[in-house]
Amino acid sequence: MRGSFGALQCGVFAGEQNEVSVTRQKDETSVVLPLPVEAGTHLVLALSLPPSRVIDEVDIVLLRTLASYIGLALSNVQLYAQERSRRSRAESLERVVRMLRDTQTIEEVLLVFAATVSHEVKMTCAAYELDRTQAVRRAFRPVEGVRAGFPERIDVAPLLPLLDREDITASPAIPAGVRDALFGSADGIIISLRIDGVLWGLLVFAAPVTTDWNEPERRLYFQTVASHLELAIAGARGFERIQQLARALSESNEFKDDLLAMLAHDFKGPLTVILGYCELLLENPPEQVRDELETVYSQTQRLVRLSEDAVALAQTQAAGFALDRATLDLRDVLSESVKAHNRGHSRISLAVPDAPVPVNLDSARFNHVMDNLLMNALKYSDAPIAVRLTATGSAATIEVADRGIGIPESEITSVFARFGRASNARRKGIAGSGVGLYVSRKIVEVHGGSIAVQSREAQGSTFTVTLPLTRVHQA
Ligand code: ADP
Repeated sequence: MRGSFGALQCGVFAGEQNEVSVTRQKDETSVVLPLPVEAGTHLVLALSLPPSRVIDEVDIVLLRTLASYIGLALSNVQLYAQERSRRSRAESLERVVRMLRDTQTIEEVLLVFAATVSHEVKMTCAAYELDRTQAVRRAFRPVEGVRAGFPERIDVAPLLPLLDREDITASPAIPAGVRDALFGSADGIIISLRIDGVLWGLLVFAAPVTTDWNEPERRLYFQTVASHLELAIAGARGFERIQQLARALSESNEFKDDLLAMLAHDFKGPLTVILGYCELLLENPPEQVRDELETVYSQTQRLVRLSEDAVALAQTQAAGFALDRATLDLRDVLSESVKAHNRGHSRISLAVPDAPVPVNLDSARFNHVMDNLLMNALKYSDAPIAVRLTATGSAATIEVADRGIGIPESEITSVFARFGRASNARRKGIAGSGVGLYVSRKIVEVHGGSIAVQSREAQGSTFTVTLPLTRVHQA
């Protein structure tokens, strides 16, 4: 341009001018004309020409045309830069949101947020929670070169009316006391954080004084990150409340289980003493109280049974329900158990294979299962009961078959549920708690086995327990 116009100098300057001006001086002629660029940007093109150079109408038209080309090129560059910055803001926002997605507690949300955002925008960042008129710092992330105060606690009373009105408050509008305490010599902004419409806290950013806070894109960026943070805090608050509830619930459950185990355990001692005295008296009972004595004896037996079930129930519910196992011959375990339940009668028959049936058992717990099945068979039937042990492949199977009241078909699965009792047993007034089979199933399952029943009402039931066999090395 300098060459084609024979100019001494040519340049682009910031300045506002609507028309072309030509000024003639002794040693030069200067021409200044506006450059048509984006609204809000004011640039002029200035040429300094030798005084001999005459500027005519044709020159002016030419200069205007050239200026409009330069203006167009500059506008393009500006647009491109804006687009690039818009895209980089969008990507930065995406990174912040992605980081927030994996946070759960409020503490975590705020720390991750402060770290990510301060890294993204290269600004010192802090999050404060409001405690009436005080703001308490919950997260803080400084960036190098910004000397911001960001105290741990700050009185924000003078700021509150402003926060109520505005989402974002920039440095000049922030009351001097708060501004100095927060930002010192740096420039800064405060963004209000609202959860469920109520002011929850502040987000504070400090940056070098040169930062242009009024840039609409930046404003939009901060407004958007703040609303993502608000969402994340609201989510974390919900999560923390659910955790508190779950904790309270599990504590009350543990308390209930402990109480049950304690009561059941403490009941069993005195009940066993009563049983002992009853047995003693029943050896030679005075005739006039014989029936009453037998009732006391059988009812006490029932209570002992109940307390044993309660202890077993509490144990199966406790965390880390573990077994104390040893390899035993299941034939011996069953024969002991049947013998104990045949006392005073011999309704129960036992059939076992000739070869040993080795299983890895917690014998105390497994006896509880057999006691349960045999006592139920005795209780819910009057006819003989057949216990059969078989071993096939890798499993041992115990069947306890009775010809008693049976279980209605639709209620078969519910008898294994906690407190599950069949309607016919209730109707007939046969005492029971509905805990025995539930506990038995738990015990069999932790042994790696299973328990099932086949039953027909008024015909009888067959309970089947399957347990894994243990391989025994032959000497
Ligand atoms: P309880 O016998 O104390 O009620 P269980 O958990 O041992 O509790 O048994 C649950 C229910 O299953 C019983 O109430 C009864 O309805 C049914 N049941 C268990 N064993 C038999 C059986 N041998 N014959 C018929 N019904 C049975």
